[in-house]
Formats: sequence, structure tokens, C-alpha cells
Amino acid sequence: MFARLSHILLLVSAILAFVPVLVVDYFLDTYVDYRESEQLQDAVEAVTAETQKTVAEGVDALRRVLEKSPSLCSPTFINNTQTELQASQVLRQFAVSSDDGVQLCQAFGQGFAATPLSETVSIAGSEETITVVQIEGQSEPALQISALVRPRKLVSVYTPVNPQLLFGHPQALAGATLVRISLTNGNNIATFGDPKLVERSRHSSSYIRAEAIAGSLPIRVEAAVPFGAVRIGYADLDVGFTFVACLMSAAFLWLSLQYVRRTNVPVFNLERAIMAGQLKPRYQPVINLNTGEIAGCEVLIRWEKPSGEIISPGAFIEYAEMSGLAIPMTLSLMEQVRDDLEPLSQEQPLLKISINLFEGHFRDGTIVDDVKAIFEGSSVEFDQLVFEITERQPLEDMADANQTIAELHRLGVRVALDDAGTGHSNLAYLQTMGIDIIKIDKVFVDLIKSRSQPVPVVDALIAMAKDLGTDIIAEGVETEEQALYLRSHGVVFAQGYLFAPALPLPDYLLLARQLNANQTIAPDDALGASQAA
Ligand code: C2E
Ligand code: CA
Ligand code: CA
Repeated sequence: MFARLSHILLLVSAILAFVPVLVVDYFLDTYVDYRESEQLQDAVEAVTAETQKTVAEGVDALRRVLEKSPSLCSPTFINNTQTELQASQVLRQFAVSSDDGVQLCQAFGQGFAATPLSETVSIAGSEETITVVQIEGQSEPALQISALVRPRKLVSVYTPVNPQLLFGHPQALAGATLVRISLTNGNNIATFGDPKLVERSRHSSSYIRAEAIAGSLPIRVEAAVPFGAVRIGYADLDVGFTFVACLMSAAFLWLSLQYVRRTNVPVFNLERAIMAGQLKPRYQPVINLNTGEIAGCEVLIRWEKPSGEIISPGAFIEYAEMSGLAIPMTLSLMEQVRDDLEPLSQEQPLLKISINLFEGHFRDGTIVDDVKAIFEGSSVEFDQLVFEITERQPLEDMADANQTIAELHRLGVRVALDDAGTGHSNLAYLQTMGIDIIKIDKVFVDLIKSRSQPVPVVDALIAMAKDLGTDIIAEGVETEEQALYLRSHGVVFAQGYLFAPALPLPDYLLLARQLNANQTIAPDDALGASQAA
């Protein structure tokens, strides 16, 4: 279950981690589209502004000529038109025709002919009109701006639709597939590029488009640029973005890996298991090596799954401590121990019950209140309780720890140093802590191979305990040789597979009642009596 959930979590975070890389393209496309559309719109508007300026110039010139010339086609008139053309960069010709199209005169040259390419449309708010025309001998079409002079003459000024105007200055139009200028009534003025290509993909996003109308003029300018072509211009940005996205992905993946590793997955499982009462005590007997009787037990936790699977504390104890579940777990355990052992404790008042605590209990500080709340008024007396502090994890705040130990002592409870010799405690440290019992770790007991061959480390630990005036319990005793060696060196209490593993309650009760059947309640026989001896 642990493994499966962590795999799923890991898989999900691995997928999520690649989201930044995946969205980079989408994000960049959106950005390119937005930015290029804006630039193309600006370019198209620049063209319409230019066109407006040109037409306005034509209208002004036309009006000035008419104002200054009393009669059309007179030398003064021709002179005035020539002056206007010389002053302008965009106006090319003036001409006068009758309303049935017969040319009457012109500013320069002879035999001028302009064929209309479109209908004549009026300019909003003025009397002049615009027509797209083809001037004989010219390659590009031109705009004809005309004024009607009564009774039936048309005076016109001409300006070519100049491709320079379109492609010369607005940068964005340089790569355009299509630029089209038309009258708003639909008549074409000029088309550059291939409108069919663009038309075919009208509804796709493969082109960026822009369109503008030249103010009050009936002129529309449209442009389309292939998206793919402009996107290439962002290759550098693409590389940069992808790199950043990869970094983000990597960071996310790393963080989620850390999270999964640290939590070793789900808080919910252990928490639920505690609430469902799946965390249960086992009882490992502690034997009096002199009498062969039971002096008490150590409570060892087991996770009993509904499936029948039994999980050893090694798999979850570290996680319990890290996740803060150690406290509720220990409380639940103590309540079960109290309920389990109340009758036996009454029958055999000298039996001790040893419970393991976490380093966190000493930081939390509420352990004393909890012990009081759970055992006060029960048939388990405080002086039957021992609490074990492991030396494997150093206590963070010695002042806090000492105060907690002092309060436990005040209740009548005793304190054991678990796994002695494996940590970093020195004599002075032990003395200030007020330890009552030292538990010699299995790694030292393992060194004993025969009852007669001396093991200096074990001897030293025993000597230290004697100097400090504490009791000794030897842990992990597996052979008779070890038991005999320990007994001959003055160790009274031992636990280990030689005698019994951690037992379910019924087995422990049975063993305690059988082995201690003729137990006289003599102080010498019980754990904790050697101090008095
Ligand atoms: P510990 O406190 O040193 O407990 C002794 C461990 O050695 C127990 O393992 C016990 O089953 C095992 N053991 C006892 N006799 C022998 C033996 O002869 N040979 C061998 N090879 N092993 C023996 P267990 O029950 O798996 O517990 C492992 C550790 O988990 C305990 O070490 C203790 O540190 C922790 N633990 C267990 N229950 C609790 C608990 O309720 N609270 C806290 N805070 N820690 C617990
Ligand atoms: Ca222990
Ligand atoms: Ca131990």
C-alpha cells in the first residue's frame, strides 16, 4: 500500500513536472501571435495614414489651382498646376476632361489618357471623388482625385499607388504574403502577393492578419503574414524559454521527490491505523537471571493490519516520529497497555512495565500529564512503570529532558537508558540525567561467545552502571552462554529470544502466571529491587 501510493504520487508529479516544458510552445505561440498582430496592425495603419495624407494633398492642390485660375486650361491654369506638381512628391499629373471623357488639357506632356478601373466613389465630407485608374504607359494603377467644375468639366489630379509606400518603410510588411489596397465598395486598387494562398486558409491560424480603413477615405488596406515565418524570428527566445522551463521542471521534480522520500508517503495511513486501533502492544518478558522468574516486560509496538499482516516498528517508527504521530501513537499504546495489564499488575505488584519514549516526548513536555491522566487511578501503579529513552537519538535540549525526568521521578516512575553505549552519552551526562536503569544493547551482548571468555566492553558497561548506582538489563540475549556470563558478572535482568520474543497479551499473561506461580512478594526478586539491595 505504501509503495503503491508513493508510486502514484511520484508518477503524477513526474507528469506535472513536464507541464512547464509542454506549455512553453503554447505560451510562446500566443506571445508571438499577439506581438506580431500588433506590429502588422501598426504597419497597415501606417499605410492608410500615408494614403490619407496623399489624398489630402491632392485635394488641397486641386482646390488651390481652381481658386487661383479664373478659367480652365488657360496658361495661368497650366502654370498653376505645374507649380503644384513641382512642389509635391506624390502628385504626378493634372488633367481636365469633359464629362463624356474627352481630354481637354493637362499639366505636362501630350496625349494623356486614364482608363477607369473602378467606380467613382465620393470622399466623405467633401465634394471631391476618387477613382482608380490606369494611366496609359504606366505599370501601376493610380488614384484619380477629381472635382466637378460647372457646367460639365472634370478637373483631376493623379497619384500612383506606389509599392514603395507599402514595402518601403513598414518593416512588418516586408515578409507579408499579401498586401491589398481596395476601395471600400470592393473595387481593387492594388494587390501585392498571392491572395489565393491566404484566402484558402482564412479560418486557420497559419496567418496573422490586419486590416485598416483610411479614415474618411473609402480605402481599405489588408495584410497577411505567415505565422510560421515570423515564429522563426523567435528561435532564440524559444531556446531561452525551454531552458527556463526545463529548470522549473527539474526543480519541481526534485521537490516532489524530496517530499515523497521524506514522508515515505502517507500520513493518512498511519494516522488512520492509530485511530482504527491497528497499532498494538506486544510484551517481551524481562527475566530475573537469578530466579528464572519474570521481572516485567518491555512493551514493543506492532502494526496489525486487517489483512493479518504484522509490521515491525522499524518500518514506521521513524516516520511516526517525523510526522508528529509518535505522540498520539504512544498515548494509544499506553491506554491499551493499562487495559491489558491491570489485572496482572494487581496480582503481581512487583512486575514492571517498560515503555519506549521518543526524543520528541521530551521536547513536547506533555508526556508527564499524559502518563498521569492515563495511569492515575488505575491498578497499574506509577512505581510499576519504566520509561525508556534511547541513546541512539541525542536529546536536543538537556534542560527540558532533565525537567521531564525529574517530574516522572516525582510520580514514582523510573527511567531507563535504552541502547546504552551506542550513542554519545558520557558518564557526566548520565549522572545529571538521573537514569535509573541502563539497558546494555544487543550489539554488546552479541560479543559474548562463551561464559568464561572476558568481553571488556561489556565489563566496562557493567562497571559504569555499578558506579552510577543504576540497574542493568541486558538486551538481545540469545544463548545460554551469554546469560551465564552476564549472571556471573552481576547482571540480574535480561531479555532476549533465549527466553521469549515480544509476545501477544494472552501468551505473556500465561507465562507470567506460570513462571511466577510461587512468587513470594520479596523485593529481591523484582526489577528495581537491586538498588535497595
Ligand atoms: P528496542 O527498544 O531496542 O527493542 C528491542 C528490539 O529488539 C525489539 O525489536 C525486540 O523485538 C528485539 N529483540 C528482543 N530480543 C531479541 C533477541 O534476542 N534477538 C534479536 N535479534 N532481537 C531481539 P522490535 O520490536 O522490532 O523494535 C525495534 C525498535 O523499535 C525498538 O528497539 C524500539 O527502539 C522501537 N520501538 C518498538 N516499540 C516502540 C514503541 O512503542 N515506542 C517507541 N518509541 N519505540 C518503539
Ligand atoms: Ca527499548
Ligand atoms: Ca534497545
